[in-house]
Amino acid sequence: MKLLVTGGAGYVGSVCAARLLEAGHEVVVVDDLSTGHADAVPNGCKFVEADIAEAAGDLLAESFDGVLHFAAKSLVGESMQDPFKYWQGNVVTSLRLLEAVREHGTPRLVFSSTAATYGEPDVVPIPETAATRPTNTYGASKLAIDHAISSYASAHGLAATSLRYFNVAGAHQGFGERHTVETHLIPIVLQVALGQREQVQIFGDDWPTEDGTCVRDYIHVTDLADAHLLALEHATPGEHRIYNLGNGTGFSVEQVIDTCRKVTGHPIPALVAPRRAGDPATLVASSERARSALSWQPKHADLEVIVRDAWEFTRARHQS
Ligand code: UDP
Repeated sequence: MKLLVTGGAGYVGSVCAARLLEAGHEVVVVDDLSTGHADAVPNGCKFVEADIAEAAGDLLAESFDGVLHFAAKSLVGESMQDPFKYWQGNVVTSLRLLEAVREHGTPRLVFSSTAATYGEPDVVPIPETAATRPTNTYGASKLAIDHAISSYASAHGLAATSLRYFNVAGAHQGFGERHTVETHLIPIVLQVALGQREQVQIFGDDWPTEDGTCVRDYIHVTDLADAHLLALEHATPGEHRIYNLGNGTGFSVEQVIDTCRKVTGHPIPALVAPRRAGDPATLVASSERARSALSWQPKHADLEVIVRDAWEFTRARHQS
């Protein structure tokens, strides 16, 4: 298939672009490099540096078999302080992309949605049928896009899939996480192990969880990328399907830090800090629907493997 990948210079987008190439697809990446890196775009992709909202119409006029839409603002804390950036950067940009998809009759869309659309869950592990009550603007903006996609699927026959990622981590064949401003737990802890930070802050130890720190479901980025390939294969015109992607096992912030200590051999000092605005206590996926409907099977579910791959990537970049 000929596929347009928005945000293919970012972490998940670049890994998925690499996996799409490995599977024999033709890939065009569009990215404005606001947070991505040109050298993260895999060799073999055509790369267009442009604002997605502005460029989508012209790009899709070339006739694509599908769009994988990764480009987004994705920081929970920032979304609470600067909501315009999220409503504009996520919702408005995605609507412009959807309009280009409709105008040019692009048949398939796979969208990077998020566990943050659910908010504080009533049921754990969280199924796709759970109530969506986001606790932060990031999650609300992604949920709004999910709703827009449903409307486009039913009105215009789009074969659409939203993949709701839980906590993506790890690295794939030299492609990994390297945000200019890092806010995610595992990369921050690994920066401590590299000596780039003195300590990691634990955002709250009085949450209603076993050890008092927040619980998240960490999924290896290679497993996540594989789900995108399957979503493309299983897409049905006029339907918008939603799948959670996680391992179904939760790890607390303390447990993640301990695993990083084990993998890196570094003591990793940690300090308890106040809670972060917008964080739910526990987010763990039920991915039963993806497993049964897409035959998706995570192959790297062990947290130690996820951290080890992230550590190898981080250390290799640090040394080069
Ligand atoms: N977290 C933390 N210290 C940090 C970064 C994150 O305690 O320096 C916590 C955060 O509050 C959340 C978990 O680690 O409970 C995962 O956060 P992350 O930002 O990696 O992903 P999110 O769950 O927000 O998508």
